[in-house]
Amino acid sequence: MLIWLRSRKGIVVILQWLLVAVVVVLGLTTGAWRESPTVFWSLVTLTALGNAAMMRMPLLYFYQPTVGMNLFIADTVFVGAAIYSMRGFDTELYLPYFLIVLVAALTRSLARALAIAVAVSVLYMFLVWREGSAGSLLDSAYLIRLPFFLVIALFTGYLANAARLQSEAVQSSRILSEQVRSLQQLASGIAHEVRNPLTAIGTGLEVLLRRLPQSGEERVIVQEALAQVGRVRRMVQETLDLARPLNLKAGWLDLNAALERTVRDEAGSRADGRVAIVRRIAPQPLMLWGDSVLIEQAMHNVVRNALEAMPQGGTLEVGTSALSVRGQEQVLARISDTGGGIPVHQLERLFQPFYTTKPQGTGLGLSLARKYLHAHGGELTVDSVTGVGTRVALILPVAGPVPEMSSAKAPAGS
Ligand code: ADP
Ligand code: MG
Repeated sequence: MLIWLRSRKGIVVILQWLLVAVVVVLGLTTGAWRESPTVFWSLVTLTALGNAAMMRMPLLYFYQPTVGMNLFIADTVFVGAAIYSMRGFDTELYLPYFLIVLVAALTRSLARALAIAVAVSVLYMFLVWREGSAGSLLDSAYLIRLPFFLVIALFTGYLANAARLQSEAVQSSRILSEQVRSLQQLASGIAHEVRNPLTAIGTGLEVLLRRLPQSGEERVIVQEALAQVGRVRRMVQETLDLARPLNLKAGWLDLNAALERTVRDEAGSRADGRVAIVRRIAPQPLMLWGDSVLIEQAMHNVVRNALEAMPQGGTLEVGTSALSVRGQEQVLARISDTGGGIPVHQLERLFQPFYTTKPQGTGLGLSLARKYLHAHGGELTVDSVTGVGTRVALILPVAGPVPEMSSAKAPAGS
C-alpha cells in the first residue's frame, strides 16, 4: 500500500481526487455551485469518472510523456469551467489551480512544470480579466497568487525530480547487481558441469600419451590436446574461485616466507636459467593476520605473470617491507620483472575477468589476486613502463581485514 502511495500513479491519483474534492468543498461552502448547479455537478461527475478510469490504467501509463499534458488539459478545463460558470473569482476557487501546478510538477520535468505554471497564470489572469473590470487584475489578492504558482512549480518540481533520479539510480543498480549475480551463477553452474568430464578427458589423454612411441606425429597432437585441456581446467577452476564467496581461514603468517615459497615453486617449475632472481626480502619476519593459502595464491599469480613476461630471460626482483600508512601497520610485497611491460591503454583492463593477451592465458590471474587482497582489506597495484618492465605491489594490513569487510575475526590487541 505504501509503495503504491509513493509511486507516481499513487501520487497523481491522490492529487486528482483532491482536486475534485477541493472544487466540491469550495463550491458548496462558498455557495458558488448555486450559480449553475447543472454545470457544476456535471463537471464534478465528469472529472470523477475520469479519475475512476485513470485508477484502472496500468502503472506504466503514468511514465509516458503524454500523460502530464493530458492531465494538464483536462484539469485546467475542469477548474477553469468550474470557476467561470460560478463566477468564483472572489472566492477561494483559485486554489485548485495550485493542484494543477502540483500534478504538473510531479509528472513532468522541472522546465515543463514551470511552463505549465506560467500557462496557468496566464489563463488565470485571462479569466479574471474577462470576469471583472480590468482594474481587478491589479488587485493585490490576485497578484500575490501568481508568483505562488511559480514557486510551487519550482519547489515541487525540484523535489520530485531529485526523488525520481534517486529512485531510478537505486532501481538500475539493483537490476545490474541482479544481472551480475545471475551471470555468476550461470558461469559457476557451467564450470561445475564441465569440470568432471574435463578430468576424464585429461586422464584419458595422459594414458594415451604413455602408450604412444616417444616420437611421432600422434604424440605431438595428444600433447597439444592435453595442454588445451589443462588450460580449460585452469579456467574452470579460476572461474569457480572468482564467483565463489570467500571464506577466510585466517591465522598469523610470515609474508617473507610466503614470498620465498612462491618464488621457489614458480621459478622451480619454469627454471631454464634465463631469468635471474634478485631478492630484497626484509631481514626480520613480516607477520600478518590472513589466509595463507589465498595470499600465496595471489603471489603465485603475480610471479607467474612476471615470469611469463620474460620468455627471453630477464630479472625477477622480489622484495618485502613494512610500512605505516596513517597509523595503520602494513606489509608490502613487490614483484618486478624486466619484461615488455604493459601499454597504457591495457592497464585499465588488467583486472577485467578473462582479459588476456596470452594464447594460453585465462585472464583471471590478476582478478583473483586482487579479490584475495581486497578480502584482507589490502590492495594490489600495477606500475608498468613498456620496454622496461612491470612492478606489482601487494599491500596488506598487518591486522587483517577490518571486521565488517569479512566474517573472519581480526586478532585482538594488534
Ligand atoms: P593471464 O595471465 O591469464 O593472461 P592475468 O589476469 O594474470 O591473466 O593477466 C592479464 C593480462 O595482463 C596478461 O594477459 C598480460 O597482458 C598482462 N600482464 C599481467 N602481468 C604482466 C606483466 N608482469 N608484464 C606484462 N604484462 C602483464
Ligand atoms: Mg596470469
